[in-house]
Amino acid sequence: MEGKDRPLEADSSLRKRLVLGSVGLAIAVSVIFISVAYNLARDLGEAIELDNTSKLANQLILQLPLISSSSLDDLTHIEQFKNSYIFQPLDSELVGIEIWLDEKRITVRSYHQWVSSADISLAIKAGIDSSGFIENESERLFWIYKTDPLTGFSALLLRRISTLDVALGYVANRLSITAFLTFWLAVWAALVMSALITNRFELSNQKLAYMANHDDLTGLPNRYYLLSVLNRFLSENESLGDAYKQREATLLLIDLDKFKEVNDTMGHAAGDELLVLIAKRLSELAGTKAELIRYGGDEFILWYEGIGSLAAEVLAQDIVSACRQPLLIDNNQFEIGASIGIACYPEHGTNADQLFRRADVAMYHAKNLRLGYQLFDQTLYSKSARWVTLRGQLNSALQQEQFVLHYQPKVKLPEGTIVGVEALVRWQHPEEGLLAPCVFIDIIEQSTVVHEFTRYVLKQAIMQCRLWLDEGISISVAVNMSAYNLRDDDFIPFLKNQLSFYEVPPGLIEIELTESGTMFDFKVAQRVFSKLRAVGVKLSIDDFGTGMSSLAYIKKLDVNYIKIDRSFITNITSDCRDEAVIKSMLMLCAELEKEVIAEGVETVEQAEKLYTLGCKLAQGYYFGKPMLPILITPLLAENASPVVANCS
Ligand code: C2E
Ligand code: MG
Ligand code: MG
Repeated sequence: MEGKDRPLEADSSLRKRLVLGSVGLAIAVSVIFISVAYNLARDLGEAIELDNTSKLANQLILQLPLISSSSLDDLTHIEQFKNSYIFQPLDSELVGIEIWLDEKRITVRSYHQWVSSADISLAIKAGIDSSGFIENESERLFWIYKTDPLTGFSALLLRRISTLDVALGYVANRLSITAFLTFWLAVWAALVMSALITNRFELSNQKLAYMANHDDLTGLPNRYYLLSVLNRFLSENESLGDAYKQREATLLLIDLDKFKEVNDTMGHAAGDELLVLIAKRLSELAGTKAELIRYGGDEFILWYEGIGSLAAEVLAQDIVSACRQPLLIDNNQFEIGASIGIACYPEHGTNADQLFRRADVAMYHAKNLRLGYQLFDQTLYSKSARWVTLRGQLNSALQQEQFVLHYQPKVKLPEGTIVGVEALVRWQHPEEGLLAPCVFIDIIEQSTVVHEFTRYVLKQAIMQCRLWLDEGISISVAVNMSAYNLRDDDFIPFLKNQLSFYEVPPGLIEIELTESGTMFDFKVAQRVFSKLRAVGVKLSIDDFGTGMSSLAYIKKLDVNYIKIDRSFITNITSDCRDEAVIKSMLMLCAELEKEVIAEGVETVEQAEKLYTLGCKLAQGYYFGKPMLPILITPLLAENASPVVANCS
């Protein structure tokens, strides 16, 4: 799956920014370090210079009385003084000296050009000891003005700052080496750090991108990923211009049929396990050429580039079969099933939105008519609109009692006497006329009125039973219940209440639940069935043979009847395999002491065959279609099926 991930937009600017930031920091640190060190060296040099020159000035002042006593007019003496007392003991950096002896001033200047400053003039004028620096062309000079408090003689010394320059020279040299090393060290550290940080950042970035594009539960890519794949495909095709029509692709929208039942009855953990198992199956079928996406809830999408509608239908068929294979969850077997809508590019849509919507319309059609899969076509729009309309009319239909019950006889073989009836609901729709259950039962089961609807049917059946009892007809009435009703805690209290209100013996009411309905939550079905048995009603497993249960499971359910599905009866006279299946079912049911009812008997031959195989009860058009009470009541009064069976 990794390889199919949406390419990450690597954040290269981060690395650049980190390096630049670190280098900038290194430069700033170096500059601060250099300026601190330089200033320190300069302050130190100046302090040394001040100290040395002060000592020199003191020394000179001490010498002054020596010349004051001599004749100041004697130039030879002065020269001597200069040579022996001033220049000799003093250092070579001395630029010049000026001495004030009483009113006399002696200036001794070296070869160096004498400089002066406002500060010096001020000091001399005020006669205050002071010192300072003068910037002279390229060099710096230090001056000190001192007065001996005892003699009143003063001296001004001007000296080149050689110590400071040397100190600064040393410092500058070392500082530049240190700064150079610090700088490269900082650059190296910055590069290493930025590499480490960006690696970690990119890793977490990749992780985040994976999470954003994948479904946690199944590990499959999610709808965001699909959108990026679709958009890439569509923009590539657009760039091909007219040639885009050459490139085919197909979107298959897969919706699981009974996932809601598993989730509602077995809990979310079982639902999750189911999704993971289904995702695995679908991945195997998708292979590496197609993109399998969990679109949300129990919806998956298969996006296959390079295939058209024919190949897509073959693939859809395979997926439907794979989803019908039983799944083992918590030691329970489930047959989940799937409905698939197919939309092809560019035939059914040239953008992502069109393809989704059309696959969705096709999928709903497949689901409602239990077709397995459906290729989109324009006529489906009106059909799906009808589905939506009917769903919106459910509540008012219930309020206005538009649902009516027809009753189909169940007969005893061979004579054909009616032993019971099955209540089969129809919707007397104000505009559409009489609607068969296959049109609306699914809509009801997927709606919130499923409990109310079943209670309504149950009440009608009990009321009818009461009416027949009043006419002296004691006949058992079977009512179909939906698997969702197993979770309706009010169902049994309601049943009891209605039975006692209409004073109908519980033994006259039979509850039918399809085999797949019982298998969806076997434990709950077992519990509800035993409560129903305690009430005294009869129980049947409907459409037996179509679910994935075995008779070993049925053994654990306390039921009275097992109704063999019509599909096994249709070819019973021509297909010896169906005959063998019926035979073994009859044998096992006899062992389990449960009665068998054969459903969908349409011909006398089928009835005869069933009888010879040992089947004692049957139901089907041959004996009577579902009919209104007004039509079936006379038959019940006579206690005979409309067709006299010839099964002797
Ligand atoms: P089912 O309970 O298995 O009912 C038998 C269905 O087979 C009925 O279809 C009946 O008309 C049909 N049938 C009976 N004999 C023959 C025959 O010889 N040949 C053929 N081709 N069909 C035959 P119907 O009335 O359309 O009901 C279909 C299904 O709708 C029922 O199957 C049942 O599962 C569901 N259903 C009907 N009424 C209710 C209801 O009140 N509540 C619920 N939850 N489901 C209902
Ligand atoms: Mg039934
Ligand atoms: Mg049936």
